[in-house]
Amino acid sequence: MGLDISTGYCKYCKEQRKFERKATNHVLHLLITVVLGILTFPFFAIGGIFWLVIWILSAIKIGGWRCSVCGSGKSTANQSIIIQSLKAVGILVIIMYITTLFSDAK
Ligand SMILES: [Zn+2]
Repeated sequence: MGLDISTGYCKYCKEQRKFERKATNHVLHLLITVVLGILTFPFFAIGGIFWLVIWILSAIKIGGWRCSVCGSGKSTANQSIIIQSLKAVGILVIIMYITTLFSDAK
């Protein structure tokens, strides 16, 4: 697991600091998506689609930044509320899509 690096103003240190968070492991996600997709291929590759959703959600994680000095979070409260709303809408759309897939199978 690598680390994403960014800089920003830390409200606790009251200085510009280096911020870190866990990077998304795209190679691992691609492998799991392909394997699950192949395994569930007769069922619309539902496993692959399912993992693709998890992959997208972990790739668009905007929050999770930690100050490398004091460990406190970055002050992006407004931004993370927007992202969390987008994630919720995304999950709803995907659930509706999967439901459509299953009802077409009948
Ligand atoms: Zn700090």
